[in-house]
Formats: sequence, structure tokens, C-alpha cells
Amino acid sequence: MNLLEVQHLKKYYATHKAVDDISFDIPRGSIFGLLGPNGAGKTTLLRMITGIFYPDEGNILFNGRPFNPQEDIHSIGYMPEERGLYKKMKVGEQALYLAQLKGLSEKEAREKVKHWFNKFDMNTWWNKKVEELSKGMQQKVQFISTILHNPSLLILDEPFSGLDPLNANLIKQEIFDLSQAGTTIIFSTHRMEQVEEICDRILLVNKGRKLLEGQVQEVKQTFKQHLFRIGVG
Ligand code: ATP
Repeated sequence: MNLLEVQHLKKYYATHKAVDDISFDIPRGSIFGLLGPNGAGKTTLLRMITGIFYPDEGNILFNGRPFNPQEDIHSIGYMPEERGLYKKMKVGEQALYLAQLKGLSEKEAREKVKHWFNKFDMNTWWNKKVEELSKGMQQKVQFISTILHNPSLLILDEPFSGLDPLNANLIKQEIFDLSQAGTTIIFSTHRMEQVEEICDRILLVNKGRKLLEGQVQEVKQTFKQHLFRIGVG
């Protein structure tokens, strides 16, 4: 069964069509790539799937019924491209706060945050302010904060941007582990080699339109001459 079904979504900014009649399904437990150049409409699409924006037209089904942002928000983990950490807050407090926002009790939040800080070797950061961390370090905090409540749908917008190869691999391994454990993942990027390495299926978008949806190799073969020209590396 599909965890997510997106049907004919449209979103306009004034008269500009940022997302123009996009449909796709995501089977439960799969890693689904959203591939497109800058300005393709990826973030706008993700903001509709997370309930930040209402679509102007179209439907989103989550678990087979109409997506309800108020009810379904705790089932979703969204790591936005622009990140969302409070710079003046201490790193540990920040992670605890975000976990509780997602419905975890204080005790559960503390246990989970401790587990992940140990696993990612981040304990020495606990009392540092977020603004004292490098961009890559902040990204690790953001990733952990996104998965603490065990979302059934994890949405990652450019999760590797700014990460060194070691930390990118760490996050990549977690993505595979979460997928193995049944989490459905949407991975948004403009890098072909990242979707090739990580995703089961991809949706290629450009200028708000769906160009093709399919297996990674199928999309690569069909569009190989055009990918660089439209801005997908
Ligand atoms: P990137 O990879 O650069 O983040 P993207 O694929 O996520 O790009 P979007 O951010 O969804 O693309 O933007 C899609 C289109 O909508 C672009 O043409 C962009 O200029 C436009 N757009 C995005 N946000 C707004 C806004 N708040 N107001 C007006 N236009 C917007």
C-alpha cells in the first residue's frame, strides 16, 4: 500500500506556477527521490506535503485518507533546506524542545536525544549554543531532531549540503537503516549521483512540471542528454 499519494497538485505564487499538476505515489518503506534543478518547485511541493502550504488545487492522501496536517504532523519528520534551529538556544535544550513539540514526553525526549547524541558523538556539544556550531554540525543536530519521534514519513531537503564526506556517510547510513526499519523517505536534491546511490524511485521535475517518474536508471537513460542542460548534476 502507498503511504503517500499526491494527485494533481498545483501551487501558484501570484500568477507564477511553482508546482503545476504533479502526481506521484510513494510505496510504504521506499526511498523516493525528488530530483530537479534550482527553482524546479521541490521545496514548494514538500511544503504542501508537510502541511505548511495548502495546495491551490489537487489532493494529498496519507495512509489512504485525505492528509490532515493537524493529525498527521506527528507522523512526519521534515528537515527543511533552510534549516530551523534557534541560534541562541543550547544544542541539548534545542533537541529536547523539538522532540517535545513532536509529541514525545520529557522522559522519552531525554532518552532519545541522549541515545542519538551518543551515537553521533555529539555529547560535548550539549551546552554549546547552536550559533557556536559549524553549518555541518548544525545539520547533524537538525537531522537528529527530525528523526527523534520515529516519523513514518521522513522528508529530507538537501540533507548533505555542507556536510563533509564522513558526516554525509553517517547520515546516509542512517537513511538506509531507517528505511530498512520501515520508514518511508523522500529525498530531495539536484544531484543525480545522490539519488542513484540512495533512492529506489525518482520523480524528475523542472519548472514546476513532472518530467518523468520511475526507476533511477530508467530516468537517467531517458534524460541523460538533458539532465545537465536543465541543471541536474
Ligand atoms: P531550490 O533547489 O533552489 O531550493 P526548488 O526546486 O526547491 O529550488 P522552489 O523553492 O519550490 O524550488 O521554487 C519554485 C519556484 O517558485 C521558483 O521559480 C521560485 O522563484 C518560486 N518561488 C518560491 N518561493 C516563492 C515565494 N515565496 N514567492 C514567489 N515565488 C516563489
